[in-house]
Amino acid sequence: MYYKQYGDTDMKVSAAGFGCMRYDEEDVKADRLEKCAEVLLYAHEKGINYFDTAPFYCDDKSESITGIALSQLPRDSFYISSKANMGTLISGEAVKDGFRRRLEMTLSRLKVDYLDFYHLWCILSMESFNKQCEDLYGFYEDAKREGLIRNIVFSSHMQGSHLEDAIATGRFKGMLIGYNALNYRFRQSGIAAAHERGMGVIVMNPLGGGLIPQNPDKFRYLAEGSDLTVAQAALRFVASHKEITITLAGCTTKEHVDDACKAMEGLQEKTAAEIYQEYENKGTSLDDLCTGCGYCNKCPCGIEIPKYMDAYNMSLLGSSALERLSDHWQVPAAKVAECVRCGKCEGLCTQHLPIMDRLAEIGAL
Ligand code: SF4
Ligand code: SF4
Repeated sequence: MYYKQYGDTDMKVSAAGFGCMRYDEEDVKADRLEKCAEVLLYAHEKGINYFDTAPFYCDDKSESITGIALSQLPRDSFYISSKANMGTLISGEAVKDGFRRRLEMTLSRLKVDYLDFYHLWCILSMESFNKQCEDLYGFYEDAKREGLIRNIVFSSHMQGSHLEDAIATGRFKGMLIGYNALNYRFRQSGIAAAHERGMGVIVMNPLGGGLIPQNPDKFRYLAEGSDLTVAQAALRFVASHKEITITLAGCTTKEHVDDACKAMEGLQEKTAAEIYQEYENKGTSLDDLCTGCGYCNKCPCGIEIPKYMDAYNMSLLGSSALERLSDHWQVPAAKVAECVRCGKCEGLCTQHLPIMDRLAEIGAL
């Protein structure tokens, strides 16, 4: 296993982390929790020492499964991370008590006395970031003072420029973001800013929600010159960023653990700028996809074009554009009807994409 330093701390973490959100569905349903825990134990045996879970994952059983495995391991041989936000508070209690009870429940399920990392979870906008910081950050600090958590971190789905604003607050030791060969241009400025500040950067969704391995021909270029599968190459693509500390692999089976380990073998770190250059120059495979560069984002009608084009990418790859807009970006599809076809965006598009027609197609959906 390849290890990296977590930000400016002295923690050595495995370049591949174990995402505890993909325990086998059938086993979870049937309450075969020990069987699920075996996959985590196998990962630990292979050198993975970072485990990421949360309330509600796997029918709300992920923390318990993870705890079954962790209780069999020396406490100083792993790092464990979980998450909270306003939505996870125990209902019917004051915010302070609700937060505290949620944390205690997490610790008890995980069978540990403290968490190495506790996330302010799932920040979708700066508005929500500011609000949740205001309402909850103080309770994270209290828990840290009491030794119940070691590091306060956040997880987010915002794009690079907004991530930079969150990072600039200087309140977090690390961040967890979605990053992969599909969306890397959206978030590169964010990972660069976090790295400069000495933060750890953890990546979820390195396989683009499964779209990358499901479209091997489109993404074959990632594996060029290696003996890796497309899925393994996609993990290595992310992990090879100097700015990225841990790439989380959601592992259902021991084979998934093997894939993650294989992807980290002989890892060569490069800066995000070098990687951008390398893939930009290679790339013809993704010619019809929006690269997320953001140059077109100057619409006089206020349409956030890169978000709609990212959703269109999803439809080209066989997924739902509308779900992407509503669930991920949380912008209304109907907004595209406000386009007056001035053509400004197409004049700015680095990929010369037919933006107006694509927006119209989304409108027709
Ligand atoms: S063509 Fe439509 S989307 Fe593009 S800049 Fe003009 S109004 Fe905005
Ligand atoms: S300029 Fe083109 S490639 Fe870049 S974000 Fe806009 S539509 Fe996508």
